[in-house]
Amino acid sequence: MSGNMVTPAVLDCGHAPTPLGSATSGIGTPGFAKKAGTGDTMCYSCADEHERAVMRTSRCVVAYLSGDGSTITTWTGGTLATVDPADRRQHGQRQYTPSGGSWTRHVWHATDPHGGRWYGVNDGPGMAVRLRRVRA
Ligand SMILES: [Zn+2]
Repeated sequence: MSGNMVTPAVLDCGHAPTPLGSATSGIGTPGFAKKAGTGDTMCYSCADEHERAVMRTSRCVVAYLSGDGSTITTWTGGTLATVDPADRRQHGQRQYTPSGGSWTRHVWHATDPHGGRWYGVNDGPGMAVRLRRVRA
């Protein structure tokens, strides 16, 4: 019965909603994120903390590649991992799909703040990327 587009004054994390325009990408949300499962509302910095905590125990995460190809981020722009310098200037490889479409395959290797190694393939910088943990 309550409209889900209403932005609360104080979020479940105890902080005020993040002002619109302060995050690098805010994709269609009014200044806060919701925790999967519980629906608890969080400000962007708490959402970033949560993403980093989830990543620590995950083998696969969906994240975003920064526009310059140097950083793996959350959707709010928080840093999750740093891309290997050797991968940053790649131009990708043209790929053709069975249906006649094409995309540019980029392969990324990155290191998270805890030293974990990750591997992902996507369409290039500024795009979503599904990362898989690399066994050490
Ligand atoms: Zn917060």
